Amino acid sequence: MPTSEPDRVPGRRAARLAVVDPATGETFGEAPDQQPDELDAVVDRAHRAWHGWRADPVARTTALRAAADAVETAGDDLARLLTREQGKPLAESYAEIARTAARLRYFADLAPRTRRITDGRPMHSEIRWRPLGPVAAIVPWNFPLQLAAAKFAPALAAGNTMVLKPSPFTPLATRLLGSVLATALPEDVLTVVTGREPLGARLASHPGIRHVTFTGSVPTGRAVAEAAAASLARVTLELGGNDAAVLLDDVEVDRIADRLFWAAFRNCGQVCMAVKRVYAPARLHAEVVEALVQRAKTVAVGPGLNAETRLGPVNNAPQLARVEQVTKQALADGARAAAGGHRLDGPGYFFAPTILTDVPPSSPVVAEEQFGPVLPVLPYRRLDEAVAAANGTGFGLGGSVWGTDLDRAEAVADRLECGTAWINHHAELSLAQPFAGVKNSGVGVAGGLWGLYGNLRPFVVHRPQEA
Ligand code: NAD
Repeated sequence: MPTSEPDRVPGRRAARLAVVDPATGETFGEAPDQQPDELDAVVDRAHRAWHGWRADPVARTTALRAAADAVETAGDDLARLLTREQGKPLAESYAEIARTAARLRYFADLAPRTRRITDGRPMHSEIRWRPLGPVAAIVPWNFPLQLAAAKFAPALAAGNTMVLKPSPFTPLATRLLGSVLATALPEDVLTVVTGREPLGARLASHPGIRHVTFTGSVPTGRAVAEAAAASLARVTLELGGNDAAVLLDDVEVDRIADRLFWAAFRNCGQVCMAVKRVYAPARLHAEVVEALVQRAKTVAVGPGLNAETRLGPVNNAPQLARVEQVTKQALADGARAAAGGHRLDGPGYFFAPTILTDVPPSSPVVAEEQFGPVLPVLPYRRLDEAVAAANGTGFGLGGSVWGTDLDRAEAVADRLECGTAWINHHAELSLAQPFAGVKNSGVGVAGGLWGLYGNLRPFVVHRPQEA
C-alpha cells in the first residue's frame, strides 16, 4: 500500500526491526527499520500530496468519515495486533480503536471559522485559516493508535498531510492502520515510517516539515524541540505526567476504590494521565491502602489475548527495568510493599500490581513518573500540605480530587497546577476539550477546536470598504 510502504534507497538491503510480544518476551514480527535519508522522498511526496488535499474541504470531510468507517471494519485485525505488540487486554484494544474512529469522525466535521475584525476603522478585515504543510507526528508505545489519531485527525482535517512515526516497540498496528487509512485517503496524505533512532530526530529536524507534534517523555520532548528549532517548525509537545489524586476527609472509600484503582492501573499504569500518587487523609490512609491492596492482589494479570485478563504486561524490557528499579529504590528508601513489589516469574514482562506505603516524598516513585503498575499512597494531615505536594513536582498534566461534598472538592481541584482536573474520577477526556499540560508536561494545546487551530495558521486580509 503506497501510504505505508517505506521508500527504498536503491542498492541498500532493507533493514528490519524485530517486534516483541511483551506477554512472552519473544519476537513475533518485524517492521522496516527505515534510515533517516529515506525521509527526504517521503516528505517530498507528502508535500506534493498537500496541494490537492488542502484544496477541497468537502472532499476531506468525506475521506475522513470513510477513514473512520474503514478503521471500524478492520477493528478485529487491528485489535489483535495491537494487543500482541502492546500487551493491553483485548477489550482495551477495541476501546482504543473505537476512540481512533471517533476522533476521525469528530474532526471530519470540524471546520475553522473565518472571522471579521471590527475595530472602528473603515476596513474590511478578515481572518482566514490556512494549513501549515506536511506535519510530522511522533508517538509513544502506550496508545499507539489513539495517540496517532489525536495527531492525524486534526492535522488532516485542517488540510495538512502527515508523516507519522510510531515507537519502534509498537510499529505493526500503526502500519496496519496506515494501510487501512490508505483505502480512504488520497495517496501520500498520511505516510507511516518505522525505525530506530535517529529516524525521529531526523523527522523532527527535516526542513520540509512545518509542524512537529510529539507525544512522549520529557527528555525526548526537549530533544524534539531542539531538533525542530533547526527549521523553526511549529512544535506541540504532549509530555509525561505525575498526576496526584487528593482524597478529602469526606471521601467514601468503598464507593471510589474501583475507580481510583483503575485510574492508576489501566493499561498497566502506562498512561500519561494515570493517577501516579495518592494523597489520603492520615485517618483514612489504612482503609484506602486496604481497598487498593485487595484489588491489586485479586486482579487478573496475564496475556492480553486471554479473555479473563484485566491487566497485561509492561510493554517493553527497558520500561520493565525502570519500573523494577524505581520500586527497588522506594523499598531501599524505607517504603513497604503492601501488595506486589516485584516482577512475576515466568516469561513476558509482567510486574505484580504494587501498592507502596511509607514512601519518602523524595523517592523517585513519587517525585518522578513511574509509568507502570506501581502506586504510592501517601498520608497527609493538613489539606494544604496535600495540595502543595500534589503541585510539588515538575509535571502538570492532570490531577483529581475525591470527596462527597462536590463544591468543596471543586474548590480544591481549582488549586491544582495542571491542564485538566477531575472530581471523583480521573483521565476522562472529551473530544471537544483542550488538552494541554503545564510545566514540563507540555507545550501547545491539542484537542477540540484548539487542536484544529494548532494545525492552522492565520491569514489576514485587509481591504478598504470603498475603492
Ligand atoms: P519516548 O519519549 O521514549 O518516545 C516517544 C517517541 O519518540 C517514540 O516514537 C520514540 O521512538 C521517539 N524518539 C525517541 N528519541 C527521539 C529523538 N531524539 N527525536 C525524535 N523522536 C525520538 O516515550 P515513550 O517511552 O515511548 O512513552 C512514554 C512517555 O510518553 C511517558 O513519559 C508518558 O507520560 C508520555 N506520554 C504523554 C502523553 C500526553 O498526552 N501528554 C500521552 C502518552 C504518553
